[in-house]
Amino acid sequence: CGLVANDPILYRAHVAPDRQALFEIATGRQLSYAELDMRIARCGGFLKDMLGARREGARIAMLARNSIDSIVLAFACQRVGAVYVPLNWRLSAAELRPILADCAPALLVHDEEFSAVVASLADADPEMAVISTADGPAGLAARIEASASADPVSDDADRACVLLYTSGTTGQPKGVVITGRNAFYAAVNFSFVGEIGPASVALCDLPFFHTIGLIAVARTTLMLGGTLVISDRFTPARTLAALADRERAVTHYFAVPQIALALRNDPAYSAAALSGLHALFVGGAPLTQALIESYLDDGVALVNGYGMSEAGTVLHVPIDRRAVQDNPGSVGLPAPLLDIRIVGEGGRDVGGGEIGELWLRGPAVTPGYWNKPAETAAAFTDGWYRTGDLGRREANGFYRIVDRLKDMYISGGENVYPAEVEAVLASHPDILDVAVVGIPDIRWGECGVAYVVLRPGAATTGEEIAGHCVAKLAAFKRPARIFFVETIPRTASGKVQKHVLRQLHSDETLQRQA
Ligand code: ATP
Ligand code: MG
Repeated sequence: CGLVANDPILYRAHVAPDRQALFEIATGRQLSYAELDMRIARCGGFLKDMLGARREGARIAMLARNSIDSIVLAFACQRVGAVYVPLNWRLSAAELRPILADCAPALLVHDEEFSAVVASLADADPEMAVISTADGPAGLAARIEASASADPVSDDADRACVLLYTSGTTGQPKGVVITGRNAFYAAVNFSFVGEIGPASVALCDLPFFHTIGLIAVARTTLMLGGTLVISDRFTPARTLAALADRERAVTHYFAVPQIALALRNDPAYSAAALSGLHALFVGGAPLTQALIESYLDDGVALVNGYGMSEAGTVLHVPIDRRAVQDNPGSVGLPAPLLDIRIVGEGGRDVGGGEIGELWLRGPAVTPGYWNKPAETAAAFTDGWYRTGDLGRREANGFYRIVDRLKDMYISGGENVYPAEVEAVLASHPDILDVAVVGIPDIRWGECGVAYVVLRPGAATTGEEIAGHCVAKLAAFKRPARIFFVETIPRTASGKVQKHVLRQLHSDETLQRQA
């Protein structure tokens, strides 16, 4: 995988120089593969001039919305042996500070939109150079244009090329080291399950600071020679217009469940807008069956996928209406280059539909976390990455994700998977959003607490919701308490931050006791 793993764009520029690589919706700018390759070479030249020999292994952080520049900088880092670190622009300065301290970038590139945050962070590391993506002589574009092309560095697919911080759903985000080999195989994996090739046109409005946007969508599409349509923000209207544009002819679109729901519920939504799609890919968090079915009714193949920063795409429902229909709630079949085990208590492999933790091995799996030897050691056993997710394999080979191991709790000796309880609560017509967490309980060891957001205008009581649970859940699974709240704390990708809810609960308990 030498040349392609280290420089996928260089390869494409040889094979199909004139094919369109990138199109930027916000500006209408576009680049062919030859033009993209040239720009990456110049951007690499800029990094070389700026950092000299220090560039090998140097972290180059970026706090920016999706743009052509993000892609150029990402591949330029790889070309000169530096490490691209896309930062989550939804985070506050206080949340970004520990991340910058962790990766200690030599350079931070940012959009003007985030200059106030950057100004308040610049003191974090006086060694860190800061430049903006804005036009002007000191901006990134001018620096790239003024630089001579850099030659690609020698072949080493095991060098880190990206440092991707996890979503921070279960705690502090961890920096996942992604080598050229990891990125190459993650893209190969996704190209299989997503059926991506030179004729694909992929629309990406998911941020490039998460694995789905940067690796599954952007890298796979470009490595396979398709066209990447870049959108710098998601709004239902903009995405629906881009999907309906027959000239652009988008074939692949990717969403997290909350975005798929927002699209479907938008007044401007029409099934016709999505009729050109080969598939609508959804992943990253649990998905309701009602949403899958509403798209199926419209003739849109919504396929659920499961993956993570540490391994890229792991499981995916095949793009086939029958497979979607016949396997409700499933996350599908393993990506081709991954070994998957389901490991139960005591480290034994379980089968026959039993629930266990998913363990992974394969060339797309990270070697570990940046600067975190203890976390890395805790996450790997004999070369297998332990995902921290519970799942099971059905008789037909399709997998299901049950819940996160950290979120499971034991009530009166019985395992409770909050995701199952949440699905029952979410099926109540008055409930808009819900999260269930396990908390310590004197009598049962642990018990469940439900945080519920009602639909506007709904006046359902806690007793009514408890009644709904009685009809559908065994007693040990029913939440012991129901709290009505305005919102549920979520990460940028729409995942519920249960540690925040657990903390909230223990803070409130302490306050009551005080
Ligand atoms: P952190 O590791 O910081 O707690 P995170 O695990 O949410 O955050 P990511 O790597 O972005 O960070 O997300 C991967 C996780 O998302 C998986 O381990 C899994 O728990 C969840 N996930 C991904 N896809 C699905 C899916 N289709 N259904 C259910 N859960 C999913
Ligand atoms: Mg994780």
